[in-house]
Amino acid sequence: MATHRPRPLRIAFLSEHASPTALLGGQDAGGQNVYVDEVSRALGRLGHAVDVFTRRDRADLPETIDWAPGVRVVNLPVGPPGFLPKDALWPLMPVFRDAVLGFLARDGARPDLIHGNFWMSGWVAVELRRRLGLPVVQIFHAMGLTKRRHQGAADTSPAARVRVERDVTRAVDRLIAQCPAERAELVEDYGADPARVAIIPSGVDPTLFAPLDRAEARRRIGLDTADPLVVYVGRLLPRKDVRNLVRALALLVRQTHLPVRLLVVGGETVEPDPRATPEIGALQCLAAELGVADRVIFTGKRQPRELAAYYSAGDVVATTPWYEPFGLTPLEAMACGRPVIGSAVGGITFTVRHGETGFLVPPRAPEALARRLAQVLTDPALAARLGRAARSRVARDFTWERVGTRTAALYAALLAERARGGEPAPRATLARVAERTGRA
Ligand code: UDP
Repeated sequence: MATHRPRPLRIAFLSEHASPTALLGGQDAGGQNVYVDEVSRALGRLGHAVDVFTRRDRADLPETIDWAPGVRVVNLPVGPPGFLPKDALWPLMPVFRDAVLGFLARDGARPDLIHGNFWMSGWVAVELRRRLGLPVVQIFHAMGLTKRRHQGAADTSPAARVRVERDVTRAVDRLIAQCPAERAELVEDYGADPARVAIIPSGVDPTLFAPLDRAEARRRIGLDTADPLVVYVGRLLPRKDVRNLVRALALLVRQTHLPVRLLVVGGETVEPDPRATPEIGALQCLAAELGVADRVIFTGKRQPRELAAYYSAGDVVATTPWYEPFGLTPLEAMACGRPVIGSAVGGITFTVRHGETGFLVPPRAPEALARRLAQVLTDPALAARLGRAARSRVARDFTWERVGTRTAALYAALLAERARGGEPAPRATLARVAERTGRA
């Protein structure tokens, strides 16, 4: 029997602040940018057509970009065409909604489905659902209540965030959680119907993230040392708690006298600049205070295609955030065959297998981290075993190809349910709705 190829769908991805075209590693460009890029391209490879709607944040961006086979990025003129922190975007969401409606009306092709990313685009998705009758799949990437719980007064999210998340949770057709911890948040904190939550973990591109020989990797990144090396890759935000890594490094040096170094990859600029990335300044001060300033190396941010060499240069990769909704960097390190020591929070408890692919430690506990670092750095056979198991775990369970297939299957199941009459769809035409919003 010939294999049945599913009907190609037209999908509208909404991602107000995270565009696939943004440079990664900066303040507001992280895992969500990677997700939108990789999942849209994986869906494109499966034959679907994806339009990624995002805010135009640079004056030189054209309205549409043919980004990859089957994928267009639509840069909507919402607010000034320059950088705005994501926490400043909420008041612009009605304009974003109208700009999507206007574009859809002009483009003339009705999407089969909306895929909302983050809470603000979730709000826009629900608005489009109401006006156009389109089904919505929503992924939050991070939940406001968890953020508030961990950051307290330092949380700069708009006051409406949690209420909007609750409304979106109830209004959409399906929710994607990236790991069991996120599913529990959706169900327990937000009252989501468990039957509507699908767990689809995010992934890695195994062709970008593959192991390199350690010495060769160090040569490629210009690091001239054979000393033991701990690597951190990611945004430099207080919640990532790179300070905990610096504290653990100081303890490790004091306790073991290993000539160990810490490589910190990330920041707002490609050169490490404490003015552009205040956290670099804070980390430098802390390292100096603890007597390890000469052992911490900052590189600035790097592009994804450069990162395999940075991960592979390390003997171990460490990341100990206070909380982590999912966390792509542990998976990337694992794909490069490196053991990961991560804090036992959120998605990391799901991706890192304690004792098998690395170790889990409590957050904000430099002593525990220092002990595990010492264990891995002084036992190369253990490090190699953990690294091999890490690489196989990623190849088996965490590729973007798989995320694309599972996401497409979720869409198909939802559309089939609606076709069976699960939900009456209002029949408003795109032009009529756009006319009503006055933007056609
Ligand atoms: N990243 C990057 N260059 C950098 C630092 C980070 O490309 O200099 C990427 C990293 O490889 C990962 C993403 O940014 O794919 C961070 O995602 P993660 O889920 O780990 O954390 P988030 O930034 O979403 O909190």
